[in-house]
Amino acid sequence: MTAQLIDGNALSRQLRTQVAQRTTALKSRGITPGLAVVLVGNNPASQVYVRNKVKACEDVGFHSVLEQYDATMTEAQLLARVDALNNDPGIHGILVQLPLPKHIADHKVIEAISPQKDVDGFHVASAGALMVGEVGFKACTPYGCMKMLESIGMQDLKGKHAVVIGRSNIVGKPMAMMLLAANATVTVCHSGTKDLAAMTRQADIVVAAVGKRNVLTADMVKPGAVVIDVGMNRNDEGKLCGDVDFDGVRQVAGWITPVPGGVGPMTITMLLVNTLEAAERL
Ligand code: NAP
Repeated sequence: MTAQLIDGNALSRQLRTQVAQRTTALKSRGITPGLAVVLVGNNPASQVYVRNKVKACEDVGFHSVLEQYDATMTEAQLLARVDALNNDPGIHGILVQLPLPKHIADHKVIEAISPQKDVDGFHVASAGALMVGEVGFKACTPYGCMKMLESIGMQDLKGKHAVVIGRSNIVGKPMAMMLLAANATVTVCHSGTKDLAAMTRQADIVVAAVGKRNVLTADMVKPGAVVIDVGMNRNDEGKLCGDVDFDGVRQVAGWITPVPGGVGPMTITMLLVNTLEAAERL
């Protein structure tokens, strides 16, 4: 079997076109969705990420603001900026790019963002809303993975067993919650899992969110399973690759997401969706 690709670029284009159309409708009511992206320090990867996010906003007609500060910015100064953005009526979504410099506590800054503007979905209020099934903002990366499943007709996952590898607060845990909400039976694996392959071989859906190459190989996958690769790593040639042994696993799986061109573009797309919804909820 050769797996079919779930093309994150194509799905993103489709969803971003819908976002642009809804933005035009909102603008006709006098509201332009606004996203503020805050970057502290000069981490080169973060600089690329924030530039891509701001560009994506411009492409769909949003108002976007990029605030860049020196790594010497204090925690108090950053909290004051977040407070100002919370009170700015032209800004519907606030994203503080992580990681922050070591002298600033990430969680303090994230908790300072108004839950109504928490479009990254990292605030405890957003995590809590997801947990209890209330309206909040879903973390963008797992939200994008759910949209990819939906795109292949997997909305209701009743009777399906999903295995998530990884339990971070920004990917693994919210992913597990979203799969549960879609009625899947969910197993969460991590570095303490005794026999990872025994778990993944039972799975109809495997989501790999580890950050290590070849965590999932062909012998660990049930024939026909759906494999979603969240990982972002570099191979020996320095090229971007995921956690999954793509060439091997695609011979066994039914569906697979590539890296690049899979989950990555979907993450930014879901940030746009969340920002639009923040503006629409007003
Ligand atoms: P993280 O915080 O480092 O979490 C990694 C998880 O993997 C942890 O739960 C860890 O277990 C688990 N793990 C480590 N080694 C393992 C092993 N051998 N077997 C099973 N589980 C193992 O990373 P993250 O922030 O969730 O990110 C994960 C990956 O996704 C990274 O490559 C990151 O770059 C990528 N990512 C991509 C996007 C995107 O848009 N495409 C967005 C976010 C993240 P413990 O909890 O026991 O330590």
